Amino acid sequence: MKGYRKRKETFFKRKSKSGTNRGKSVVIPPGDQHGGEASTSGLEIHEDSISIPGSSDPTSGAAGQTTLEQGSALEVLHQQPTTSYNTVRSLRARKVVPKKCLPARNVFEGMRIVNNFKLVEMMNSIYQLHDAQHAACPGIQLEIASEKKQGMAWRFVYRCKICKFKSPEYKLFMEIEQSHKPGPNPALINRDLQSVLLDTPMGPTRTRVLLSGLDIPPPTATGMRRTANKVAEQVTQLATEDMNERLEEVKATKLARGDNRPDVIDVSVDARYNAIGFGSTKKPGQRASQAYSIAMEKNTEMEYIVAMAVENKLCWTGAWLRGEGYEVQCPGGHEGCTANLAAVAPHSEFEMGKAMAENIFMKGMLVRYAVTDGDAKSAAGFNSFCSKLIPQWKVTRMADTVHLSSTQFKHCNNAVFSRDMFPDASTKADYNTRRLLLSKDVRARCNAICKELMNISNGDLTHVTCKIPRIIDATLACYADDHSKCLLDSVVCTGDVTDNWWTRSKFLGPNQLPPLQMNETDKKLMADILKMRLSEQAFQLTRYGYTTQKTKPSIGSCGVNLPKNVNYSRNFSARVSSTILKYNCGIARIYKKKRDIAYQEESTIPCRRTLPWTG
Ligand SMILES: [Zn+2]
Ligand SMILES: [Zn+2]
Ligand SMILES: [Zn+2]
Repeated sequence: MKGYRKRKETFFKRKSKSGTNRGKSVVIPPGDQHGGEASTSGLEIHEDSISIPGSSDPTSGAAGQTTLEQGSALEVLHQQPTTSYNTVRSLRARKVVPKKCLPARNVFEGMRIVNNFKLVEMMNSIYQLHDAQHAACPGIQLEIASEKKQGMAWRFVYRCKICKFKSPEYKLFMEIEQSHKPGPNPALINRDLQSVLLDTPMGPTRTRVLLSGLDIPPPTATGMRRTANKVAEQVTQLATEDMNERLEEVKATKLARGDNRPDVIDVSVDARYNAIGFGSTKKPGQRASQAYSIAMEKNTEMEYIVAMAVENKLCWTGAWLRGEGYEVQCPGGHEGCTANLAAVAPHSEFEMGKAMAENIFMKGMLVRYAVTDGDAKSAAGFNSFCSKLIPQWKVTRMADTVHLSSTQFKHCNNAVFSRDMFPDASTKADYNTRRLLLSKDVRARCNAICKELMNISNGDLTHVTCKIPRIIDATLACYADDHSKCLLDSVVCTGDVTDNWWTRSKFLGPNQLPPLQMNETDKKLMADILKMRLSEQAFQLTRYGYTTQKTKPSIGSCGVNLPKNVNYSRNFSARVSSTILKYNCGIARIYKKKRDIAYQEESTIPCRRTLPWTG
């Protein structure tokens, strides 16, 4: 700590000697990595309460537009066009702040977050010391002598109002000991805050608003971002390791079940674009600048997420450097680049599929079936990668049954049937209502037929493809109120006068839909619609009844921490990773894992706290 302050002071002296700030402003040195410490007892600077107009903000993309006084970091930067990238970064962190922005000294009002055990420890220690050193004092009356902020963590010094007692400095937070690094030890609460924020839609700015509203002095935005980047790296790493472990787990499960190919898995794939709309009026291609795709295994009942791929076009560091005149070519062309796709390139589910297939292959596994919704490009990506490595290997695309039936519903509801098909429909609105009811019934009926056939064929619909033409015939006749073929071929209608599909279906009988009067064109159209579910090809695509319905909510739950209207350029993949960890491990286990990794990296001091999950 002493070394840190010494550096700080030397820095101040150096800056004032050079006279670049003309004595009108104070230069804040680049904060340490633990969240910008400010002290009321040493230099009277509260970084948290200083607002710099146009200060750099990665989320707003305003980096580089900072208007600062003469002698600012940007000017220094302009004078040194050959500066290395790291120097540019450190220069950027220095900001010139007018003196009038500084708050009054020793403002101890408001709330502070402190560790309970440390608080009790401190109270006992203060009373013992006071009694030992100032036995003559009639009664202790404490007041705060000074406080120091370390992100969300606090250190306090107290004194007695009556005698001259002054306590030593107490740290009211848990530390992560860093013997190999200079500077104060990082506080655990700052790490915890960032790892929790990855699971919420809030970034540093909104967190600061929240804390200010609660009357808690918020950490500096810069310090929060620095910690967030560190945590983000760890979380991404953790998710990769976790997905690899899950693949091993699936392999072991398949082996235990006596599967002769434990290294072959089936996956369901879905992608999500980080934009509210799809097309854009300004940009070429899609509106989204970020997209990700996940693959979920279908071989165990846990359905773990086993691979992810992220495409990110955004890199605010690169944008800022380009704005400053540096020749930086993204993606990946400089240190710490977050973009992995050129700004004009379209997002490709095919490429993401390839990347995921590669990840799975690197763990010694191969994909056999890839279940996708209407878009088959991810499956094509899987196939492209696998067939290149093993020419005789083919990844087969399977259709999602739920998605297929909703496509069938849409087709039926948009079909142009003849006017006479619904004899009691006199207006366009009547016609549309009846067509909607019919569409719902067709979807329900096809689902019921497939379910029944699945039972008959012991789970493989390809065994019953020979029955399809007769089923379609009977179904068309049934809709025209001719139940003569129903008992033998319709699968779901008994053909009984009082108990048939019309009386059982909640869309037909209860809504008093009259029997359909289909002409030849209508019959052909209806047969085509039925064939969307009832055909050899459809049976092939849905023969194992796989769906992406579990993939969708899990990918949708990313919406909690990755709202579609916000771009988290830097920590995008960490936010996806955090959702994957939450899904694969559960919330309690994942926070333990995240904390363990914080402790692993820097050897820990004994923690007296009993964690809720350790009992
Ligand atoms: Zn006293
Ligand atoms: Zn970049
Ligand atoms: Zn019938």
